[in-house]
Amino acid sequence: MAIKEQPKSPRFRIVANILLAVSGLFLLLNLFLPGLFASGPTGVPYSLFIHQVQEGEVSRVSVGQNQILYQLKTENAESPSVFATTPIFDLELPKLLEEKGVEFAATPPPKNTWFTTLLSWVIPPLIFIGIWQFFLARGSGGGGPQGVLSIGKSKAKVYVEGESAKITFTDVAGVEEAKTELVEIVDFLKTPARFTQIGARIPKGVLLVGPPGTGKTLLAKAVAGEAGVPFFSISGSEFVELFVGVGSSRVRDLFEQAKKQAPCIVFIDELDAIGKSRSSNGFYGGNDEREQTLNQLLTEMDGFAAGDATVIVLAATNRPEVLDPALLRPGRFDRQVLVDRPDLSDREAILKIHAQKVKLGDDVDLRAIATRTPGFAGADLANLVNEAALLAARNLREKVAQEDFAEAIERVVAGLEKKSRVMNETEKKIVAYHEVGHAMVGALTTGNGRVEKISIIPRGMAALGYTLQLPTEDRFLMNEDELRGQIATLLGGRSAEEVVFNSITTGASNDLQRATDLAERMVTAYGMSKVLGPLAYQQGQQAAFLGNGATNPRRAVSEDTSKAIDSEVKEIVETAHEQAVEILRQNRDLLETIATQLLETEVIEGEKLHSLLSQVKPVTHS
Ligand code: ADP
Ligand code: MG
Ligand code: ZN
Repeated sequence: MAIKEQPKSPRFRIVANILLAVSGLFLLLNLFLPGLFASGPTGVPYSLFIHQVQEGEVSRVSVGQNQILYQLKTENAESPSVFATTPIFDLELPKLLEEKGVEFAATPPPKNTWFTTLLSWVIPPLIFIGIWQFFLARGSGGGGPQGVLSIGKSKAKVYVEGESAKITFTDVAGVEEAKTELVEIVDFLKTPARFTQIGARIPKGVLLVGPPGTGKTLLAKAVAGEAGVPFFSISGSEFVELFVGVGSSRVRDLFEQAKKQAPCIVFIDELDAIGKSRSSNGFYGGNDEREQTLNQLLTEMDGFAAGDATVIVLAATNRPEVLDPALLRPGRFDRQVLVDRPDLSDREAILKIHAQKVKLGDDVDLRAIATRTPGFAGADLANLVNEAALLAARNLREKVAQEDFAEAIERVVAGLEKKSRVMNETEKKIVAYHEVGHAMVGALTTGNGRVEKISIIPRGMAALGYTLQLPTEDRFLMNEDELRGQIATLLGGRSAEEVVFNSITTGASNDLQRATDLAERMVTAYGMSKVLGPLAYQQGQQAAFLGNGATNPRRAVSEDTSKAIDSEVKEIVETAHEQAVEILRQNRDLLETIATQLLETEVIEGEKLHSLLSQVKPVTHS
């Protein structure tokens, strides 16, 4: 094999030499033991074989341990000539053969002598290493190789309309915003001309973001089903391979196929597997590979311009925060659609869809089941219905009864609790008071946006509930009161727990972190402490910007100053804490009312929320 660059290390040189020696040995063996490898039949490279299979030229295949023998369809039946190729460890082969309707069988392993046994153990790994080195050498020389051994062929599965039961938007319940957004995409695919005529640019990429099991894949399929176009589906993890350059050639291949079938949808599941930010370090050696794959994807997405065939790329991820920012630029995944966990009524709707597949008893109350399953994603609910049906069958019932569901919930919850996504009743209650605490303190202090939504549906990976505040105007400067108000609001959650349950949980750690950071910046960066004066105790410029969460390293200060900073920070946080507790104490009844409502509906937003929060009374000092 050719080594283009200077060997980088002695070890590299040794490996190269060993490989050279081994390939020499291999050649010799081939000469002297012609009976062993590719004897009789005409030997062909594996790539040609695969090509012939794909073209549908192969009629029969016999897969042996050391070689694959096969015949072509075009041969006359009397004297068919047999071709042989050396197998590469390829798990996809049987699938491919079956797809192409090739008759195939495995030959029994030959009666081994010790020598052939040895060879069969030694040679394949060496070939493997050889190929690997070959690719590494080429990969580092720049420019991905064009699938020499056709490993680069895209593994995308194609679903074409009509094939398999067609999935439409009626199969997806809840996620209304996502559906509205995607209906538009369907229009683009159906009548692209309508949009291009007025000069609108059809979006190329739509990113579905949401926790696992919320129906992202399902939604993508529904788009294809509604639009009646082919749907290429591939998972991000399938791009990432051992060989440098394979992923990128797969991407290229995928888009080539897609363009031929346009208009169509390319769906990339688990985009984060390739789309990880290039600056973050992967822990395995495939970094280089992933980068090339990502670059290829970016190139392809830039490649098809307006007026071109309509290929819309849908992608899904549950970790949008790790994605490379380049992916999110206009012209790439410029639309992002949030697919969140379902709320109470959505859960009921999802249960309805899946319950159609089983026989339900008369006593089954889907609403009640939905109430008992906060935090369940669509996939969990589908699983729940199935578990209940299994239990009913095990109990020799004809129909699924409510008690089957009750038992199934326990099972599914037990499974999910390990993944820490589902709250029990007590936790749910604590989270409800906690969030209402944030909202009420936020309503009464300045410096906060208007509270728009409180929810106790777990969101993302960490938060159990959340309070959404939207700024009423763009703010660039904040005064001391407003910052203190923000800190009090952050502590509102924990304060509510104290006021109501007289105990505190671990749930507030992120709030405390943010409150403390903010207080520290007030003292060390904004000069808002009377004791410490208008001095900047942090290094660098960054700290001056609002909303910058990080606290810079401290300037070298005396021990006394350091102590003073600590006590000032503590003072600010504690004052804010007392303020929050006082607000909640004096509005205890309202806290109760809102929390009870939140527990019932799980989400309170808009006008209803505003009118509730407007009842919060300012603190009176007696
Ligand atoms: P994701 O891709 O977000 O991880 P999937 O789309 O693979 O989730 O969902 C898995 C299964 O869960 C779906 O096939 C469907 O049966 C069920 N499911 C998930 N969300 C919904 C929903 N909103 N409506 C109906 N079924 C759903
Ligand atoms: Mg999925
Ligand atoms: Zn909180």
